[in-house]
Amino acid sequence: MTSFNAFTPPARLLLGPGPSPVSPRVLAALAQPTIGHLDPAFVGLMDEIKALLRTAFRTENEMTLPLSGPGSVGMEACVINLIEPGDAVVVCQNGVFGGRMAEVVRRCGGQPIVVESPWGRAVDIERVEAALRAHPRARALGFVHAETSTGARSDAEALARLARAHDCLTIVDAVTSLGGSPLEVDAWDLDAVYSGSQKCLSCVPGLSPVTFSARAMQTIAQRQHPVQSWFLDMGMLASYWQGDGGRSYHHTAPINALYALHEALRVVVDEGLPAAWERHREQHLALIAGLEQLGVSPVVPASERLCQLNCVSIPPGVDEADVRRRLLLDHGIEIGAGLGALAGKVWRIGLMGHGCRAENVERFLTALAGTLDRAGN
Ligand SMILES: *Cc1c(COP(=O)(O)O)cnc(C)c1O
Repeated sequence: MTSFNAFTPPARLLLGPGPSPVSPRVLAALAQPTIGHLDPAFVGLMDEIKALLRTAFRTENEMTLPLSGPGSVGMEACVINLIEPGDAVVVCQNGVFGGRMAEVVRRCGGQPIVVESPWGRAVDIERVEAALRAHPRARALGFVHAETSTGARSDAEALARLARAHDCLTIVDAVTSLGGSPLEVDAWDLDAVYSGSQKCLSCVPGLSPVTFSARAMQTIAQRQHPVQSWFLDMGMLASYWQGDGGRSYHHTAPINALYALHEALRVVVDEGLPAAWERHREQHLALIAGLEQLGVSPVVPASERLCQLNCVSIPPGVDEADVRRRLLLDHGIEIGAGLGALAGKVWRIGLMGHGCRAENVERFLTALAGTLDRAGN
């Protein structure tokens, strides 16, 4: 009979588009004994997680909780709860994830009106305004705040202001922005915002924090058709996550992953969001300066760059996949490849959460310099 050994993951420094490194403190929380998902102690933990998430999202929204599933589940949940069959939705696409949002709108019977902006650039506000003018019946505006596929940061505040002026709700992908760059759910008046646990929160993958404004919840309450997904129906999830005086079973929450999220959020709140944003900015600047010395340049114009995800062009004559393989196998460092239109053309270097530290930037630059040297470049 074949025998199976316990799995021991190799030592890796995760500097790609996610997952990001998980700190020992968060891993230790994950390893605590599992308790029941309706245990009063667990219900207390859920309440703390909601409070911590409100702090991280900078919101007072009552409906703020982690969905059981990765960031893609948050995307599905936001779209499927707000959009009814036949609804027109303006969706901004400047990379892979905006395209996915349009597909989710289509699959739940909505009509996506896709506004394209070049990959590697922020969403073009003027094009969005023209689309909103041309489609006065659009119900929502969807966009990706931090486009992880290209490293571009869009102006969420300006987009939300436009949406409001055209009486549209906003559906915002903040998977990579939460915890890594300024995100102000209340001050920017965002409606349905989703994120992921494994990017700048540096938690294990598999949870999707979401927050819904009162306006979004009112829209959901007034739906004419039931939400097509039973699992992601926010009305039903509310009875599990916030039912006063007794919560009812909906699904079994991923208990241990939620211990980890609680600890990861404590780390974020202990450091303070402005300090975390500043740390991401400083290490980003150090990384870019080091890369420029190696002849590697960023794809995105400086004013639109994300700090937590650095998308850089492959220098001429370099075998990009071979460099990534060497970094992984010789140095234990993972970086990301290009996606979609940028496949084969860029590397994506993530400095997210716990991974965003000076020593990691140095270690990566040294490894990359050695690897490029050996490749004869
Ligand atoms: C990673 C990511 C997602 C998807 O998250 P998963 O956890 O992989 O499902 C969605 N949007 C953006 C911008 C992302 O970076």
